[in-house]
Amino acid sequence: MKKIAIFALLLVLVLAISACGKKSGGDEASSPATAGASSASSGGDKGTIGIAMPTKSSERWVKDGDNMVKQFQALGYKTDLQYGEDVVENQVSQIENMITKGVKLLVIASIDGEALTDVLQKAHDAGIPVIAYDRLIKKSEYVDYYATFDNFKVGVLQASYIEEKLGLKDGKGPFNIELFAGSPDDNNAYFFFDGAMSVLKPYLDNGKLVVKSGQTKFEQVATLRWDGGVAQSRMDNLLSANYTTEKVDAVLSPYDGISIGILSSLKGVGYGSGDKPLPIITGQDAELASVKSIIAGEQTQTVFKDTRELAKVAVSMADAVLNGKKPEVNDEKTYDNGVKVVPSYLLVPVSVDKSNYKQALVDTGYYTEDQLK
Ligand code: BGC
Repeated sequence: MKKIAIFALLLVLVLAISACGKKSGGDEASSPATAGASSASSGGDKGTIGIAMPTKSSERWVKDGDNMVKQFQALGYKTDLQYGEDVVENQVSQIENMITKGVKLLVIASIDGEALTDVLQKAHDAGIPVIAYDRLIKKSEYVDYYATFDNFKVGVLQASYIEEKLGLKDGKGPFNIELFAGSPDDNNAYFFFDGAMSVLKPYLDNGKLVVKSGQTKFEQVATLRWDGGVAQSRMDNLLSANYTTEKVDAVLSPYDGISIGILSSLKGVGYGSGDKPLPIITGQDAELASVKSIIAGEQTQTVFKDTRELAKVAVSMADAVLNGKKPEVNDEKTYDNGVKVVPSYLLVPVSVDKSNYKQALVDTGYYTEDQLK
């Protein structure tokens, strides 16, 4: 009798230990070794969604990734979230791995929008649908949907801000301006720049805006991989070559990380003190450092694109596709990727400065007051 009881006790112990092992070892999410650039998650049993994001070096993509993971899990999906750290080859191999592991669907914010043709062919061969996230994936037939913001409008908002603050509509000027654009391998960079130039060009033509460096073409003002350091060195050169006697009144910057680089360069030669006020400097993404800089009176403006909303659009597109339904789109003509026009859903970007940051960013719960201190 005693022997049987001991045996039963042992059996219960063995079963309990093996159940514990399965819980912690069976899911990569809880393994600290994978908690870095990538993570797989627990979630329901509807299969795994592969999420490929460009880099953790910019806060917005971290928020995008986290928001999607939360929302997919709430619908019962597992997620495999990977960051390519701005290295194209990393992203391609991360997507290849996701395909091998049998993800149900891919959501991709590309690093180089033209570098995914082969890997998307593989996704297609494996029957995996693809949603382009924020950035259009070009040169592939196998991009099913595109979730993004009105990218042309982003540029219009940045340039209209400069137009208004300088009083260009009232005929004021001439003013000196320098232009920056985003990465030439990101389709969005062209849309932002074209949107901005649609507002600025008449003033460049009539001489109310002067680009002393003469650099007004996209190729001359682009910033590879949106790198703030690259922008800072370019600004250093622009200032030393063109602004020893005159000052710069405005800088068109397409992204907060670039704006921070430009600001460092300007402050390095005395802007922001004495009789040398900082120029008007635009931005994009409402990243924490830039919102703080706006509150401190340094960067002037940013464009807020609510990553919670973008995640919502992408997640509901994915869920519809996986349930054999047609996702909601609101644009079927703008985003031609060179092979097809990708059906898109465009969200509305919002211009933010010192006058409305509370309403746009705090009242909506994007940041708390404390985070902005
Ligand atoms: C995004 C911007 C972002 C930029 C740099 C673009 O594709 O649309 O929101 O500022 O990439 O990460």
